[in-house]
Amino acid sequence: MTSTRRDFSRFLGASIALSGFPSPAFQTQEERKVRYCIVGLGRISLGHFMPACKMSQRSQVIALVSGHRDKAEKTATEYNVPAKNIYSYQNYDEIGDNKDIDAVYIALPNSMHAEYTIRAANAGKHVLCEKPMATTVRDAQNMIGACRAANKKLMIAYRCQYEPTNVHAIQLVRDGKLGKVQAIESANGFNIKAGEWRLDKKLAGGGPLMDVGIYSLNACRYLTGEDPEHLEGYTSIIDDDGRFTSVEENVSWTMKFPSGIVASCNTTYGADMSGFYRVHGSQGTLELEPAFSYEGIQMKAKLQNESFIEDSEQGKDPSQFVTEADYMAGCILDNKEPKTNGEEGLKDMKFMEQIYKSAGIKMS
Ligand code: NAD
Repeated sequence: MTSTRRDFSRFLGASIALSGFPSPAFQTQEERKVRYCIVGLGRISLGHFMPACKMSQRSQVIALVSGHRDKAEKTATEYNVPAKNIYSYQNYDEIGDNKDIDAVYIALPNSMHAEYTIRAANAGKHVLCEKPMATTVRDAQNMIGACRAANKKLMIAYRCQYEPTNVHAIQLVRDGKLGKVQAIESANGFNIKAGEWRLDKKLAGGGPLMDVGIYSLNACRYLTGEDPEHLEGYTSIIDDDGRFTSVEENVSWTMKFPSGIVASCNTTYGADMSGFYRVHGSQGTLELEPAFSYEGIQMKAKLQNESFIEDSEQGKDPSQFVTEADYMAGCILDNKEPKTNGEEGLKDMKFMEQIYKSAGIKMS
């Protein structure tokens, strides 16, 4: 029998607590908000993270860093940011003198993440950094080192690890509800427009793998709770239209995990993919499609004794970003290590490097 579930909030609270993901009990009653300095005023900042801070109980936008003063002033008006809290990339280090700022949110092109994380740590600020963490393994290690030396938190913005339907999928897999997991399939991609910094390896580090393929890689790891021991990848360029002179268009890769689970994943900048994963176990399957989008995440599960369709209770965008911003705020206020810390980001950097290496490509 197939049923549709829309309310599993009680289960969610329990499952998150069991899995080590944020639980309601984790939230303190502190009224103090964590005050973020937003570094880079692009799509993810302006369209998602900053609107989320407006809706949040624990997070607030207090300062801005931008190369465009006009845009920064307009944004500052909308968020009640005082003029003294608008910085440029040049005077960014002066955030160290600003006691209003608790943490920075870094939403710059990938190759800039390391520099702006390290400068923030040196200025005595906690860091929430967008994925991918960096464009080289060495940069990722340096980011961890700088935050550790400054005794500041470093969280990588893997929002799906905090999204309820993904958390439920993790719990079902880890609880053995699918029997023994044999295989995982996942894909994520989109048809990119010419002119994006994402097509410039110096800024992006790589193509779709570093940008959207990382969701599939990270999902295979968070579903299984294992790290792959063998990775093998292929890249290709099909569209000869001038977009792919610097990065690859397609990446396909396979992974074998210590338990024997095998995974096959695809990512592309040449076609729109909804972003999904399917987990095949000896006693059931589950599928999330879409799995990684900002809203509308849906799970279809066929287990031994039941089948159900479950819509995310997370609600409309930017609610995933509220959860993410507030989780980081909780880590800072309660002095807890973020689940998706620098080491988690570093692992994906190492695995992506192996995928590229096996495909004959040097990562950055
Ligand atoms: P974007 O192009 O919309 O914004 C980038 C910002 O960086 C802009 O404000 C731009 O002015 C600034 N910038 C500074 N120096 C730049 C330079 N040399 N070239 C280009 N821009 C420069 O990008 P975005 O989509 O907001 O992505 C930013 C980061 O967020 C990326 O690391 C990306 O992977 C990540 N991201 C995460 C998610 C998510 O769901 N977690 C979604 C989208 C993007």
